[in-house]
Amino acid sequence: MSYKNKNSEIRVKVKDAIELISEIFQAKSCSDYEARTIAERLCGSNLKGHDSHGIVRVPRYVEWMGEEKVFANRKSELVIDAGALACVDAKQGFGQIAGEVAVDEGVNRAKKHGVSVVGLKNSGHLGRIGDWAERAADAGFVSFHFVNVRGSLIVAPFGGTGRTGSTSPLSIGIPVKGKPHIILDMATSTVAEGKVLVAQKGGKPLPDGALIDSSGNLSVDPEVLYGRVRDEEVPDPSKGPGAITAFGMHKGSGINFMMEMLGGALTGSGVSGGIDDKDVRLFANGMLSVYISVEKMVDIDYFSKEVQSYVDFVRASPASDLNGKVLIPGDKEIITNNERLANGLPVAPMIWENIRQTAEKLQISNLERFDEAIV
Ligand code: NAD
Repeated sequence: MSYKNKNSEIRVKVKDAIELISEIFQAKSCSDYEARTIAERLCGSNLKGHDSHGIVRVPRYVEWMGEEKVFANRKSELVIDAGALACVDAKQGFGQIAGEVAVDEGVNRAKKHGVSVVGLKNSGHLGRIGDWAERAADAGFVSFHFVNVRGSLIVAPFGGTGRTGSTSPLSIGIPVKGKPHIILDMATSTVAEGKVLVAQKGGKPLPDGALIDSSGNLSVDPEVLYGRVRDEEVPDPSKGPGAITAFGMHKGSGINFMMEMLGGALTGSGVSGGIDDKDVRLFANGMLSVYISVEKMVDIDYFSKEVQSYVDFVRASPASDLNGKVLIPGDKEIITNNERLANGLPVAPMIWENIRQTAEKLQISNLERFDEAIV
């Protein structure tokens, strides 16, 4: 199948996308559970509107397996087991699985102690970090997640043009009785790297000031990050001359810096890069998470009432845009999820084509089954 217009958009049925992607990872020797979890979490990111952390990643994950950056069926190991404090070593296993192990560890310990702190190190890509805050909120816990990306030097600090940091996401989850959880989930760079990837594939363009070239000029051209990329190539963010900017001027840049300290240095996973490095470090997510039992901290009915009162207060405030609406963290994901569940995942044609090509290379048979995947 060939798509003439790189910039047109197609809609892909969620069920078919999950099926095809599961088959791809099964063909790469992942267990059925692992393959399906990877597929469901990637599609879940698209459903929530974070296409940057969705199915666009499939060819890259497959490539990483070949380069031994991530391994199928790796069992995480509990390397610190000290009451409220724990650390899980994912040993370069898939983050979609290691993330579940780390969150469940944190929730179980917080049930016992009221609070817990769990490090996760050497993890394959953890995808959308909001997934982990959501898993904790499903169990009734408030959580914070501080994440860095070892080996991914793609972000310039405030006032600089050099690549000194990663996109280092941050997520905070608040469970609300009888209502959707409140989930803040954001990169501490102006955009996540995957958003540059989506733009490179002809998807949503980048916002102003997302990138900075080596001369200090702000840009929205993905070539600044990847250099020239052929259609069939997997874009490599280490190849371009520029960087993604840190978000929020000097303050955002400071938060981005602290993610390296917490998610990288304190977990033992390692920072994104260092001054004495001879080679690029092996790619991994490090995540420091804090879990708090609401009921051990405060009366649960009081908490729910205060939270809801504040939510309503903020949502009722006048919008700055005539047709706009004030949203709280997580609202956009809920709205997008509902729309995409009904209508399918919007993707740039080249993204779906690259996934089919990946399946073809792995000799997955009878790919015509997925011709009907496009709505
Ligand atoms: P983003 O800029 O789209 O959104 C960030 C946050 O802003 C969300 O909590 C969202 O609910 C909120 N939001 C969005 N629009 C809003 C509005 N109009 N009003 C109020 N709030 C609003 O996200 P991003 O920073 O580009 O991050 C994208 C994804 O990338 C996240 O899921 C993040 O976890 C992930 N990520 C992962 C890694 C990794 O290494 N695993 C690295 C970087 C980013």
